[in-house]
Amino acid sequence: MRTVRVDPVRMTARADAGVTWGDFYTATYPFGLTTPGGIISTTGIAGLTLGGGIGYLSRGLGLSCDNLLSADVVTADGRFLIASENENADLFWAIRGGGGNFGVVTSFEYRLHPVKDVYWGPMFYEIEETANILRFYREYIKNAPEQMGGFPAFQIAPPLPFIPENRHGDMFVAIVACWAGPLDQGPAQFKPFHDVAEVKAEMVGPIPFPAINMAFDGLFPKGIRQYWKGNYVRALTDEAIAVHVANGPKAPTVSSTMHLYPIDGACHRMASDATAFGHREENFSMVIVSAWDDPGADEANVKWVRDYSAAIAPHSQEGGYVNFLDGDDQNRVAANYGANYQRLVELKRKYDPDNVFHVNQNILP
Ligand SMILES: Cc1cc2nc3c(=O)[nH]c(=O)nc-3n(C[C@H](O)[C@H](O)[C@H](O)COP(=O)(O)OP(=O)(O)OC[C@H]3O[C@@H](n4cnc5c(N)ncnc54)[C@H](O)[C@@H]3O)c2cc1C
Repeated sequence: MRTVRVDPVRMTARADAGVTWGDFYTATYPFGLTTPGGIISTTGIAGLTLGGGIGYLSRGLGLSCDNLLSADVVTADGRFLIASENENADLFWAIRGGGGNFGVVTSFEYRLHPVKDVYWGPMFYEIEETANILRFYREYIKNAPEQMGGFPAFQIAPPLPFIPENRHGDMFVAIVACWAGPLDQGPAQFKPFHDVAEVKAEMVGPIPFPAINMAFDGLFPKGIRQYWKGNYVRALTDEAIAVHVANGPKAPTVSSTMHLYPIDGACHRMASDATAFGHREENFSMVIVSAWDDPGADEANVKWVRDYSAAIAPHSQEGGYVNFLDGDDQNRVAANYGANYQRLVELKRKYDPDNVFHVNQNILP
């Protein structure tokens, strides 16, 4: 189930549930169109869209679920339903953020937007610049044009040609930025990132949109072990920055990181009760993730995520983005949905009263 069918006149795409974001972006790119999706090509459109969908284009164009026009859903009782604003509107509301709780989606129809090549790239700064970079970023992003997406990150330097060989394996603080406005404005739009501190390594320039979403694939090969935690963040305070400075640089592997994704702009323009994905007043969605190969390293990797997450919790919202949470986060489901939770429970009772679909951040009927 990996077909994507683009309608360039209506500016929509219909994609089967087995499509990955790599499949999707590659199919829509020749038309100069896309929709906001994930930043790694191997992630499925299904789980990502149903939980919300945060990516480089979200400040300008909203979440993936904000661009969903309709979905084909097989419900727990075996019915085949179309969910859209006009048909089964309550189910359509629930699947835009409510995850896999309400049925098996077999096909998604998205609104497309004109985005083809973007100006993009990761910029690496000395780890001692962390507080400076995070303070800069919180002020910068408030007023940045909405075509600017991107996030600060911790990153152990992989052995890539754009990083000096003697720095491979060193820990850096990075900004990964994506300018989806006119390409010739890219260098000027990136100037603040070059002015804030000395960039020690970077790979910045014009690039096809599908390619940026493949850039980090090597960090998440199939079968890699993972552990996730996430919180929404309203304000990146000095106290929060101190916690990041103390914990981020200890990321145990090249695939372990903290990303702070901006979810302002177009994400804020949807009302909190317009979709199941609430929390439209938050400014960032933070993820702390560890990924590693060796089963013997489970404890150390999980511990890093848990310690960091516990330390930053007092400076974050209680709830987090459901797609950034793990199996041991079931006690957080109500907080993750905030004011929308009760309506989700009622719709779960309507569409899946026996909780057939429970391998998720589970909304109990
Ligand atoms: C490497 C990596 C990068 C990521 N990057 C991003 C990112 O940029 N932005 C972002 O928002 N999130 C990101 N995520 C988180 C991602 O949104 C979740 O992991 C999401 O669950 C992935 O969906 P999937 O379909 O690939 O996963 P799967 O493991 O196939 O599914 C996960 C869950 O989603 C539900 N589900 C999946 N398919 C269906 C379906 N057809 N019908 C109903 N329910 C279904 C089920 O509950 C299932 O258990 C990333 C995750 C990874 C591993």
